[in-house]
Amino acid sequence: MEAKYGKYVRCDHCNSDRIYIQDKGKNVYRCRRCWEIFSLTGNTYLHRSRSSLRFWYEILWCFVLSHSANKAHKLLGTTRHQQILFPYHTIRRALVNYSDVTWEKEKGVYEADEALYGGKWENLRKRAKALLCEQSQNKRGRGAKERKQPVFGIYKRNGGKVYLRLIDDFEADTLEAIIAKIADKESEIFSDAWKGYNGLVGLGYAHSRVAHGKGEYVSGKVHVNGMEGFWGLSKTNMNTYKGIRKRNWEYYLKEMEFRYNYRGLTFAQQVNKLVEILMRKPNYA
Ligand SMILES: [Zn+2]
Repeated sequence: MEAKYGKYVRCDHCNSDRIYIQDKGKNVYRCRRCWEIFSLTGNTYLHRSRSSLRFWYEILWCFVLSHSANKAHKLLGTTRHQQILFPYHTIRRALVNYSDVTWEKEKGVYEADEALYGGKWENLRKRAKALLCEQSQNKRGRGAKERKQPVFGIYKRNGGKVYLRLIDDFEADTLEAIIAKIADKESEIFSDAWKGYNGLVGLGYAHSRVAHGKGEYVSGKVHVNGMEGFWGLSKTNMNTYKGIRKRNWEYYLKEMEFRYNYRGLTFAQQVNKLVEILMRKPNYA
């Protein structure tokens, strides 16, 4: 209730505070001013969810503790593990939106870096292998770049937060568009020597680079170690998912972003943060 309304419940329709409780068990209220009925979960990510808030709370704990859907299913005693998958998906969907809406664009020091995610050829599903062979006559080990998923990440030194985005290519236009969304002009941007960053100075950023190719990794305060640290961590975490469908990539990416950005919080605080995120007004646009 606090996450959605603050201290006092207000009408969803006319914002009046003259409300009374219509159905306590279902968290349904009624407004004395416009006489409309509204519920605690209406207009949030839990809209029309048939699960109890208690169940949701338990699910959030499982999510924060990184339990798989199967483990959560056994812990909570649901009849089928699909009953966990759906709420998990709702949480991830909320995270995707939250990250984009609440990023505070400001002047600062940022590290930009790209990475390729994807498992080994040996671990691919049989059908996926056959399909890829057909598509590009791939031999083993060749064309790995096309198969792997490019990801772009920006690390904000002040606060140590990351912002991740799935991309189709590493071209300058793609990277610049994301940087322009994340960092204010005149920010300092550090990156490796990739040519995709060549236009940053022209856009008004102070850009410095380290030449990884020449064995240079740190030069004064110029380095991308913050971002590199995240890649290392996340690729290890990624292994626990045992393969990710392409359409689900963004969701897992934002999940990792959440875990990393709120790593300083206790589990209980992370759960509260998730409550706050889920009680926001959803934006499906
Ligand atoms: Zn009202």
